[in-house]
Amino acid sequence: MLTQVAAVLILTASCHNQKNENIMVKAIDPANMDLTVKPGDDFYRYVNGNWIKNNPIPPEYSQYGAFTILDEENKKELKSLVDKVSSDKKAQPGSISQKIRDFYNSGMDTALIEELGIEAIGKEMDDINRLQTKTDIQRHIAEMQKLGIYPLFYFFADADQKNSSMEIANFYQGGISLPDIEYYLADDSQTKALRKAYVAYITRMFELAGDEDKIAASKANTVIDIETRLAKTSKTRLERRQAEKNYYKTNLKGLMGISPSIDWEGYFTALGLPDPGDINLSQKDFIAGLSKVMDNFPVEDWKIYLQWNLLNSSANYLSNDFVNEHFDFYGKTLSGQQKIKPRWKRVLGTTSRGLGEAIGQLYVEEYFPPESKKKMTILVENLKKAFAGRIKKLDWMSDETKQKALEKLDAITVKVGYPDKCKDYSKLTIVPDHYVKNVQNAHKLEFERKLAKIGKPVDKTEWGMTPQTVNAYYNPTNNEIVFPAGILQPPFFNKDADDAVNYGAIGVVIGHEMTHGFDDQGRKYDKDGNLNDWWTPQDAKRFEAKTKKLAAEYDHYTVLDSLHVDGALTMGENIADLGGLNISYDAYHMSFNNTQPGKIDGFTGDQRFYMGFAQVWRQNIRNKEMIRRLKEDVHSPGEARVNVPAFNIDAFLKAFNISPGDKLYIPVDERAYIW
Ligand SMILES: [Zn+2]
Repeated sequence: MLTQVAAVLILTASCHNQKNENIMVKAIDPANMDLTVKPGDDFYRYVNGNWIKNNPIPPEYSQYGAFTILDEENKKELKSLVDKVSSDKKAQPGSISQKIRDFYNSGMDTALIEELGIEAIGKEMDDINRLQTKTDIQRHIAEMQKLGIYPLFYFFADADQKNSSMEIANFYQGGISLPDIEYYLADDSQTKALRKAYVAYITRMFELAGDEDKIAASKANTVIDIETRLAKTSKTRLERRQAEKNYYKTNLKGLMGISPSIDWEGYFTALGLPDPGDINLSQKDFIAGLSKVMDNFPVEDWKIYLQWNLLNSSANYLSNDFVNEHFDFYGKTLSGQQKIKPRWKRVLGTTSRGLGEAIGQLYVEEYFPPESKKKMTILVENLKKAFAGRIKKLDWMSDETKQKALEKLDAITVKVGYPDKCKDYSKLTIVPDHYVKNVQNAHKLEFERKLAKIGKPVDKTEWGMTPQTVNAYYNPTNNEIVFPAGILQPPFFNKDADDAVNYGAIGVVIGHEMTHGFDDQGRKYDKDGNLNDWWTPQDAKRFEAKTKKLAAEYDHYTVLDSLHVDGALTMGENIADLGGLNISYDAYHMSFNNTQPGKIDGFTGDQRFYMGFAQVWRQNIRNKEMIRRLKEDVHSPGEARVNVPAFNIDAFLKAFNISPGDKLYIPVDERAYIW
């Protein structure tokens, strides 16, 4: 996935330009550049320096860039759609309009939410308090998961990695509320301080829920004890990147043998799936470890742990005291955010997730021009041709593997804009006066939808993101690339802009997603989406040597003075960035039809291509957020996403006359050439 990193929206077409097709929209504004920086010393700041200086992070953000700004624009559009629907007093009960209206309004009804306070989840708290045995606990976990609350582990339907046309039951490690296991295990002073803040946060939440100070503090210790044990039995982020090592197919009987202290039959019966069939344990050792952790704590402790999961997962939908505590820890302490987002944005986000594709349908009708879909489809085809051309010319890959790679490339399915068929929300109950209940009901529908898939063929027409999302993804088991309508806007995609900039921005995004099918993990899946090695051993070895070289370059890239990017953790994304940039550049040149593009503002087509790319990733980011992301994010920071891949590319160095004396110059024999 591409996810949130960097740059602003400078390419908005004015109304005047939109009316007059002959006027080319100015897609790169030189005022955002810093011409005092040499491109060869820091290309990222050369293109974005003034923008970075002139766009401090608003208090409600932990980072600010193209993705956040576009997301903001989208929120305003969604707001006007929801406002229109919300004012419809005559919406038929059970209609989509009624559901959108009541979901949103229930979240905005602060008087009622404040009045209810913790009582909004009173029934769910009572349900936990009544549990008496560990079997009760284990069965109740199934009940909580139906509501979108995940104690201990995640459970969902997913394609079988080795038989990708079938949906099977999947377990994935979880059960912790800090963002990574490292927060529980590392012993540096900064992590220790965060841990202390986390315990204080849990304590305050239990106090708000009605416990006395001492009891709340003791409960917080129980929670962190259990979570630390879970963290100790978990795999690291790096270990979880290895596709083949996170696949272990078994069945209910096998699961009971691996993890004997948990009543799995009771769990599955409570889920409503007494015979789950094939089961994948993404982290087998974690599931085995769960059994021991279960033995280690008494029932009373497990009840506290479940209460905590309920409280923490529901906090954002409860009264303001809960919302603010949650923000104080996750927003301020972990990410450096200064101010919470206004309520309407938060409620809109929740409504947009709960009724995702229904709102997406309205969004697409209003804001996604059909011509964008057409133009994107042509762009993707050009990118595919360019990628095929590059594969044929690779000097490090045998013809045998090339043949398979070309077949896989050709087989990639492309989805643009929105799904052909919208999800069915007819079974979703949305009431006007219970926000938490609405959130739970939306989760429940989604959970049941997924549960019903288990044991059935994969529906390859479904989407993993809503149309309004500003992002894109590659799904290895479907061998597909997906571009929601939300990202198909400036500065990524500008139907009126100069080709150089479109290829540099959305073209590179398309190439990035395609390359994911051939990155260090994606390459392990064949054209049908099965985890099935199609490489000759020599080619695999050569590929790995190249990726190590690239990883070392990122390892050496420092941000915030001395913190390093983790080249191994970010490897897949970095390969995709480098590949995307190369493929889109070739596609751009293939589009010339013998006419070379002229200069704009003194910049050649090639220069504008790389500048269009660089401006997508411009961002300002708070130190706390940068530190957090370096640990957790599989994407490199925006600055490295520009400066590392570009300097490995001959055409880039030539376009800006970069020479050995420049700071970021990489000698020819040290450059990473992969795709
Ligand atoms: Zn990606």
